Amino acid sequence: MDDLVRRTSEAILAATHVVALTGAGISVESGIPPFRGKGGLWTKYDPAEYADISAFRRNPGKVWEMLREMRRVIQQARPNAAHTALAQLETLDLLKCIVTQNVDGLHQQAGSRNVVEFHGNDRAVVCQSCGREQPSADLSVEVLPPRCACGGVLKPSVVMFGEMIPRDALLLASAAAQKGDVVLVIGTTAEVYPAAELPFTVKRNGGIVIEFNLEPTVLTDSIADWSHLESASASLPAVLVALRARLN
Ligand SMILES: [Zn+2]
Repeated sequence: MDDLVRRTSEAILAATHVVALTGAGISVESGIPPFRGKGGLWTKYDPAEYADISAFRRNPGKVWEMLREMRRVIQQARPNAAHTALAQLETLDLLKCIVTQNVDGLHQQAGSRNVVEFHGNDRAVVCQSCGREQPSADLSVEVLPPRCACGGVLKPSVVMFGEMIPRDALLLASAAAQKGDVVLVIGTTAEVYPAAELPFTVKRNGGIVIEFNLEPTVLTDSIADWSHLESASASLPAVLVALRARLN
């Protein structure tokens, strides 16, 4: 067995509260290009015109063209082996919670239950007039913007630029960070607040930071104890196999 995989599985077994922080990188192999990367939405839509809440308020129909495309990409995506491995870690009670920057819902689709979504999700839409929330699954987006029965404009419950991170997500993530003695950082450079807080808090409290990213990041030479620099859809299942072997 790979030495890195062995050390990672030992750290997870020895820990009492393992948490995971995930970002866009984990969903690329599921068919969701990172916003700024090749084929990403921001190569086609200028985020200043399409991602900002003030742009949405000014021209919801225009911003919904981007949102409709984002929904199409998300609806076609399926969890990959990295999502599945995390769900299985939770089932084995070796992972307490996932804090994600993604809005694609793939962790839940893979079977994860304890998921904190920093940037909301695409499962629901919220009326900007009456506040009523409804599932987005059977929402018609033929005429944009889609509207509530009251006539108000509907907006996906994703957090746009200029909007606050949901307070309950911040509190849950902060609690997870305080309790965490091992954090798995997966598919994210974790450079942007509030995601950046989580690994630093765990590290400050004497915990272990284990990174799973394709390429080295700012974490690699700073707070990461170990870095798995390959696809998480390969490294996480390998860690899971090692853990199962030790549990038997
Ligand atoms: Zn309404």
